[in-house]
Amino acid sequence: MNIVLLGAPGSGKGTQAARLSHRYGIPHISTGDIFRHEIAQKTELGLKVEEYVKSGRLVPDELTVSIVSGRLTKPDCGQGFILDGFPRTVAQAESLDAYFTSAKRQLDKVVYLQMTESQAVERLSSRRQCEACGQIYNLKSQPPKEADKCDTDGGTLFQREDDKPETIRKRLVVYNELTEPLISYYRGAGLLLTVNGGQGVDSVSNEVYAALDGLEPRPA
Ligand code: AMP
Repeated sequence: MNIVLLGAPGSGKGTQAARLSHRYGIPHISTGDIFRHEIAQKTELGLKVEEYVKSGRLVPDELTVSIVSGRLTKPDCGQGFILDGFPRTVAQAESLDAYFTSAKRQLDKVVYLQMTESQAVERLSSRRQCEACGQIYNLKSQPPKEADKCDTDGGTLFQREDDKPETIRKRLVVYNELTEPLISYYRGAGLLLTVNGGQGVDSVSNEVYAALDGLEPRPA
């Protein structure tokens, strides 16, 4: 099963992608996580993308597409994958289409987590992440049991640098301009599943599972 998660920053893509990955046994591929990892490791790629990620701008399409194309050829993608944060531009979506055609595979569903801008800002401002395992918390709706500590491994929770107010605004502008057109792109392709991302995390998951559980791979 090949799935794309689409939605504004803060709409819950990372949380839902992790759950889908666990449920269907296929990898969760987050371009944001890949970039943050490379930045933390100070690799050549990390140095190239650091300024874009920290300032809330998009990493250039060519670079992003080449990273994702490489990732999709890894053996763990054989049974499918969940893409979180890719594609983010029409050019990226077209490259993904080209990948599916050349690999004789298909995109099964695009799950669009719909949310208002004020809900997204609210979510992003109270988001925290475990530095050890990457688990995402929300100080209001999903707080850790002990302040600043991950429930799973006790790792310290941190706030992403691009979750600070000014960068949040920039990211939402970028989203509206470059990523929102993908909603009609995928609606036109008959692949869009729209879910209210503003409801509780479990309700979102249940709606998505209900739509995906019975999904038979479409003939190529
Ligand atoms: P995310 O964790 O998905 O919110 O992504 C964090 C940041 O990584 C974004 O604000 C961009 O700077 C960069 N990024 C992630 N995915 C992409 C993409 N598909 N295209 C370009 N830049 C991306």
